[in-house]
Amino acid sequence: MTAYRGRIAPTPTGYLHLGHARTFWVAQERACGGALVLRNEDLDADRCKKEYVDAFIEDLTWIGLSWSEGPDRGGPHDPYDQSGRLTLYEEVWKRLGDTGQIYPSPHSRQDVRNALQAPHQGEEGPLFPPSLRPPLGTGRGATSPGSVNWRFRVPDGRRVRFHDANLGWREYEAGLHFGDFIVWRKDGCPSYELAVMADDHEMAITEVVRGEDLLLSTARQLLIYESLGWNAPAFYHCLLMRDSEGRRLAKRAGSLSVRSLRHDGLCPDEIRAHWWESPEAWENWRRRRKDSPS
Ligand code: GLU
Repeated sequence: MTAYRGRIAPTPTGYLHLGHARTFWVAQERACGGALVLRNEDLDADRCKKEYVDAFIEDLTWIGLSWSEGPDRGGPHDPYDQSGRLTLYEEVWKRLGDTGQIYPSPHSRQDVRNALQAPHQGEEGPLFPPSLRPPLGTGRGATSPGSVNWRFRVPDGRRVRFHDANLGWREYEAGLHFGDFIVWRKDGCPSYELAVMADDHEMAITEVVRGEDLLLSTARQLLIYESLGWNAPAFYHCLLMRDSEGRRLAKRAGSLSVRSLRHDGLCPDEIRAHWWESPEAWENWRRRRKDSPS
């Protein structure tokens, strides 16, 4: 049997909130006895900040998480940085290019808007209009992505079905729930979809634990695995922390960040004992705690 290898993959665009920490905690519990890799998803140079990398390492450690693996750069807590792995992503882009499944997509936003007179709405907004797809095979064998976006041509009508270890069977239809998606950006960076699957494959991850907001991404990533003939890991999507109106916590919400709770005097044991409470219950509890004399 293959040994379990999990990963936690924060994006350093703000402080970790309780919802993230809870998902990472589940990842650690699932990895029990196996390896857990920490990966810093810092490809968005405009939004990612080093101070948030330091902060997530500190917050995760404080809450009781530990990971078994990082690059040997002198510190046992160093994560793998996606920004240092461009060569791998270029190789994967090249392999995908050789399959003929991706194409250069030089259209401006205006071109896309014009082609979207009666847009087909997917789960995350209008789908990329198939009328803007170039002929089959365009871009096959290219040797460098150049300064243009590249998209994955989804097999319209294809149902992507997978078993989620937490949520059960899921099914999404290509061309209906999602359309041709970006794998490479004209600014010289891979998209989230390409980078994450390239890393999960290269790091030999056996199970991906992440939030349910990424279910549709899982369907997209499964199509990439399939085109490359690679085995996909197993998936476990955690429910997100939502308020009574169903809104998810955002990093900018601030008040339920791990460090603000720490600042208010909560300790890791207490936080972990209440992981599954609603954000409203958390806010009330935190306020009472702050107001009561210690
Ligand atoms: N970096 C992503 C996030 O912080 C998670 C990506 C993943 O787990 O695949 O939401």
